Amino acid sequence: MLSVREARERILARFSPVEATECPLEQAVGRVLAETIRADSDLPAFDNSAVDGFALRAADTATIPVQLPVVGDIPAGSLADLTLQPGHAARIMTGAKLPAGADAVVMVEDTDFGQVSAGAPLPLHILIQKTVQPGANIRKQGSDIRIGAEILPAGRVLRPQDVGMLAMMGRARVPVYRKPKVAILSSGDELLPLDAVQQEGKIRDTNTYTLAALATQAGCEVLRLGIAADRREAIQALLDQAVQANADVIISSAGVSVGAFDFVKEVVESAGSLDFWKVNMRPGKPLAFGLYQNIPFFGLPGNPVSAFIGFLVFARPALWRLSGMSVTQPPAVRVTLSEAIENDGRESYLRAVVRHENGRLTAHLTGHQGSGNLFSLVQANALLIIPSGVKSCAPGTEVEAWLLET
Ligand code: AMP
Ligand code: MG
Repeated sequence: MLSVREARERILARFSPVEATECPLEQAVGRVLAETIRADSDLPAFDNSAVDGFALRAADTATIPVQLPVVGDIPAGSLADLTLQPGHAARIMTGAKLPAGADAVVMVEDTDFGQVSAGAPLPLHILIQKTVQPGANIRKQGSDIRIGAEILPAGRVLRPQDVGMLAMMGRARVPVYRKPKVAILSSGDELLPLDAVQQEGKIRDTNTYTLAALATQAGCEVLRLGIAADRREAIQALLDQAVQANADVIISSAGVSVGAFDFVKEVVESAGSLDFWKVNMRPGKPLAFGLYQNIPFFGLPGNPVSAFIGFLVFARPALWRLSGMSVTQPPAVRVTLSEAIENDGRESYLRAVVRHENGRLTAHLTGHQGSGNLFSLVQANALLIIPSGVKSCAPGTEVEAWLLET
């Protein structure tokens, strides 16, 4: 039996990022950055005022109150083309470029100028009521970022604040990796598509939907191949569609156990290779991985929870790497068990509700952990990871967990 880690490493060794492309900044959130972005200017690009107030020389406020003549008006976005002389002040708005000669700004609240509304006429004089130090209320050029500094690393999944940062740098187009195309198929004579009338002895094809949703969430484009009956030709026809469509990866569920009707292995091997692994995990011990016409092929178990967890543990790391992401696993959090857990010693992924209780994260299992019980996964917000070799955990034991909320 392979450990989960060994199986995952063997899989990951087969993947490297797809090619890079570009997208408009408006579509960049959630995409994977393909190049490290460095600042091509200082930010802020010029010294500017952090407040609405009066630009002056700090030395002129040593003794207060002091009255200064107001010699200019500097709205945001204007060029401060005046040079401030000692003993003078200029009205300045938040974000406006600091005039030469000034080294501080006094907030309007620290003056006798009550009118802060837009369009208020410029006063002739201003009474300064507070002493300021050089640099007060000024955002210095380069105080956030220096030209050339790394802003965003390649491999980052872009978040809204990253998108804003790129806008700040004037980047209308962003280098990103192409979205990998993932073909998904289900197999089994018992499966009914959603638009078919319910029939006795049949069940709804669930995994196509779960796996497609997971692949979408992993940042991939999805090609839904549908259901293959338990016949060689049916399976081959769908696999060939994936080849035709230039899929980067094929993910199938079911048909990888030792059932008499499991033809998936035969068909994949007819145009590639397929390894069957018994992985030391629960749920989802059987895992098939190989190549069909040179396209990486995952054969996940058929039970809906096993398929889901098999995806998270084995397929998602591969898809993340393929997408260009610099990480292949989500961060794990440490949680404290609220109940005892008995296990069979395999590395186990258990459905649980994690919540804050008395300043820490606690975990309760959500009902029975049968691999067909999708409802207990629906009720869960986390998967507890019980390491291999651990057969029982007392309440209060700390274990790692993946939060399922994203
Ligand atoms: P198998 O690996 O073909 O033996 O399937 C294992 C279990 O998963 C059986 O109970 C199947 O009916 C079930 N199963 C397989 N594929 C799906 C699917 N796409 N949706 C829901 N259940 C499935
Ligand atoms: Mg089957």
